[in-house]
Amino acid sequence: MKEIPFNHPFLVGTELGYVRQAAEEGGLESGGPFTARCETWLADTTGAKRALLSHSGTGGLEAAMVLADLGPGDEVIMPSFAYPTMATAVVRQGATPVFVDVDPRTLNLDPTEVKKAVGPQTKAIVAVHYGGVGCEMDELLAIAAPTGLTVIEDAAHCLLATYRDRPLGTLGDLGTFSFHHTKNVSSGEGGALLVNNPALLERAEVVWEKGTDRKRFERGEVDRYTWVDIGSSFAASELTAAFLWGQLEAAEEITGRRREIWNRYHEAFAELEAEGLAQRPVVPDGHTHNGHLYYLVLPTPSARDAFIAAMRAKGIATSFHYVPLHSSPAGRRFGRSVGDLAETERLSSRLVRLPLWTGLDSDSVARVIDAADAALNDVASSRA
Ligand SMILES: *Cc1c(COP(=O)(O)O)cnc(C)c1O
Repeated sequence: MKEIPFNHPFLVGTELGYVRQAAEEGGLESGGPFTARCETWLADTTGAKRALLSHSGTGGLEAAMVLADLGPGDEVIMPSFAYPTMATAVVRQGATPVFVDVDPRTLNLDPTEVKKAVGPQTKAIVAVHYGGVGCEMDELLAIAAPTGLTVIEDAAHCLLATYRDRPLGTLGDLGTFSFHHTKNVSSGEGGALLVNNPALLERAEVVWEKGTDRKRFERGEVDRYTWVDIGSSFAASELTAAFLWGQLEAAEEITGRRREIWNRYHEAFAELEAEGLAQRPVVPDGHTHNGHLYYLVLPTPSARDAFIAAMRAKGIATSFHYVPLHSSPAGRRFGRSVGDLAETERLSSRLVRLPLWTGLDSDSVARVIDAADAALNDVASSRA
């Protein structure tokens, strides 16, 4: 029986031609024509004031933390149920991550917990939109507004997903995408920073250009370029941009295909949820997801482990995440938590992700559904 991997890269077919074109045209450093195409597409498609293409989603987050002007003594509120790099990006600035719990329905920041964590040291909030389903942004923005907290969206999962008709990544001051191998649209490694707050535009260019005013020099606004601020080499190579351009051109199609798979899983597991065997993702009214990932939350940690083993026995790879940041070695060393984070602990030990990738064919989806159905029923009857 053919194995069904958890993830498998998808090639549109145009990527290598664009890479060849970039190489033949020369100038493979950042800022070439493919970079411009990708950045224009991202800004036009999302409505961001400016999109800057990065070597990684992590790079985008690190630049965001520089632009938020974080330093020692500052605190940044974020979910514990998340990928580590936004916390690392905060710690690199000498600031402190403050971990709070998530809403068990969406696995996104719980605004009530955020409110409890806001104090005089709070400088920013990082909203991670889990699985391409948006956080309650109106509530988070309302918490941030009175004291002018910077709101950063970790929209790594979110290309083409929306919240109340507004694209994710454009609701906060800054937003970041990832084009990592596992994301919907990919260049192996890659990412972008969306700048939405116009007050940050000028500094963003400088931070991006290693702390120099090179962009102004290129526009002929200054007669030489020099070191003016802190920054780093956040940009993507033109090779990465060329590959990514092939994927971005097909982004709608890729997203449509993933949504189809997501919807099939979701319909198929409705009955299991009604029987109490697993909890399905919740997409609140007014949100449009992008089929980034599909997960189930099982009743107990041992049920989750038995499920993963049963799926593996049928040649189907599943996966789980995240190890809560508040209890991770670096999280304990560099951060602190507010609240008991009970939902984060519960979800982290019970969540399982099913294979979902753009080239996953219909028969394989049916096989995953049948195997999951059987495994969940077996797990339930062994507990009875
Ligand atoms: C993938 C991911 C990142 C990191 O992106 P890279 O491109 O791998 O650096 C950050 N946050 C979340 C939620 C992610 O899923």
